[in-house]
Amino acid sequence: MFLSLQCLPRVMAVALSAMLCLLPVSAQAAHSWGNYHWARTANPFSLKLGDNLSSAWKPYLATTSSDWSTPLVTVPATTDVLNTLIVAGSTRPKVCRPSSGRVEACNANYGWNGWLGIAQIWASGSHITQGVVKMNDNYFNTTSYNTPAWRNLVLCQEVGHALGLDHQDEDFNNANLGTCMDYSNDPVPNQHPNQHDYEQLALIYSHLDAFTSLAASPAGAQAAPGLQGVDLNSQREWGQLLRSRHGGRTEVYARDLGRGHKLFTFVIWAW
Ligand SMILES: [Zn+2]
Ligand SMILES: [Zn+2]
Repeated sequence: MFLSLQCLPRVMAVALSAMLCLLPVSAQAAHSWGNYHWARTANPFSLKLGDNLSSAWKPYLATTSSDWSTPLVTVPATTDVLNTLIVAGSTRPKVCRPSSGRVEACNANYGWNGWLGIAQIWASGSHITQGVVKMNDNYFNTTSYNTPAWRNLVLCQEVGHALGLDHQDEDFNNANLGTCMDYSNDPVPNQHPNQHDYEQLALIYSHLDAFTSLAASPAGAQAAPGLQGVDLNSQREWGQLLRSRHGGRTEVYARDLGRGHKLFTFVIWAW
């Protein structure tokens, strides 16, 4: 049961992932979401994180960025696939408009809409083209969530999704796995990635592409539909519910944008 739960979201994934699902989960990395990844022509690659954050959030982005820079941790050289680099933001945080080839990090009072944090990721075919992560201060400023552990967990997890990672575990009440890609009622042990996450990143980025999706789309290229004027903070605009787990506390939505483009929304609902 535990094993099939782990593997279910990856049924459509590449054959390699399917094979890994047959092995004990603890022994192998197998938590990509589909086969989605940034296209690039060389490793290690550098993903820009746009800083649109208030001073209260900036230290957490620094932590998340170093968490998701694989060369900075003591892991085998084979997992040295990516860096994240904090750069100046390019959007008003409340709107948090995407910019092609990068991830924008935003915080704002997005309202009492139920969600604590979301990651929204645009893909063209299997290649990620842009993303945003949004931290909802309405909830983060309440006593339940106004802790360093919750801020680290949610920001780390949403940026992890923007790299192509899925949750390692979606049961809030079982033993903690010690990774921000684990849902939990107790965020304290789950504020950073673990070895398993770095192994999965090494698998996701073990091939090279003939082009890169890490740069702004050149003029004339088919850019991802940005959905200008659409309120992407609203659940109504997220498209079809792909997965709902744990009484609906963790969800993934997909909106088909046509011409091979999709928008995925990963949600952590507030309790
Ligand atoms: Zn590729
Ligand atoms: Zn998530």
